[in-house]
Amino acid sequence: MLQITNLHANVGDKPILKGLTLSLNAGEIHAIMGPNGAGKSTLGYVLSGRPGYEVTEGSVTFNGEDLLGMEPHERAAAGLFLGFQYPVEIPGVSNVQFLREALNAQRKHRGEPPLSGGEFLKVAREQAGALGMDMDMLKRPVNVGFSGGEKKRNEMVQMGIIDPALAILDETDSGLDIDALRVVGDGINRIMRRPDKAVLLITHYQRLLDYVKPDFVHVLADGRITRTGGAELALELERDGYKELAA
Ligand code: ADP
Ligand code: MG
Ligand code: MG
Repeated sequence: MLQITNLHANVGDKPILKGLTLSLNAGEIHAIMGPNGAGKSTLGYVLSGRPGYEVTEGSVTFNGEDLLGMEPHERAAAGLFLGFQYPVEIPGVSNVQFLREALNAQRKHRGEPPLSGGEFLKVAREQAGALGMDMDMLKRPVNVGFSGGEKKRNEMVQMGIIDPALAILDETDSGLDIDALRVVGDGINRIMRRPDKAVLLITHYQRLLDYVKPDFVHVLADGRITRTGGAELALELERDGYKELAA
């Protein structure tokens, strides 16, 4: 589903990703762990097409399409969902408006007709209900005035409504208390743990992986994948730190 080959990327003039190769198949959950400053968020931004992150070498394909040649909105329409450590606030645009647009763009990409307002609200109600979120919150501007935990819960509602093929979640667990962590973990499993979907979970700590069990764990250090293992590698990292294992 996602094939990253020898990816090099700069932020400004500074090389951050230095030959990163990684491949995700449908049905798999991969975790990327690594020390601060290793380039984990940069990888997420490059995959999302954020301005200022320049690819200098390598390729990325998403379901066989050249991802790097697509505009950010085309990537989303093709079924790529990105959750960031600090979700953006969008004053003046309600969650409902934003998500209906996003979902219908993806449906168009798949050759499906757009959902009407009423049909969309039914989907939105289901997903909000599954995550214990009040529908009133979905009618408010995107993330404006939401607490950290509410933003993360909202992100899971967004992911449930959009129903993406691939989710890349960057430190989705940061700043969450134990109840919110469970909500997020359950959300990821319910929405994404499916044979036709894949997840790339970028995380600093092992604790989210107690809820979402990865099939593969990778260490990203100095802009490259330096080690790959199973779920047990996350426990090793937690115990021994990155220094011992990165090389
Ligand atoms: P991680 O998410 O693994 O902690 P990042 O991808 O955020 O690491 O950062 C990797 C490196 O790139 C760091 O050295 C960071 O200072 C640098 N970097 C990231 N974004 C920018 C930016 N916008 N401008 C300058 N340097 C940046
Ligand atoms: Mg960091
Ligand atoms: Mg980061």
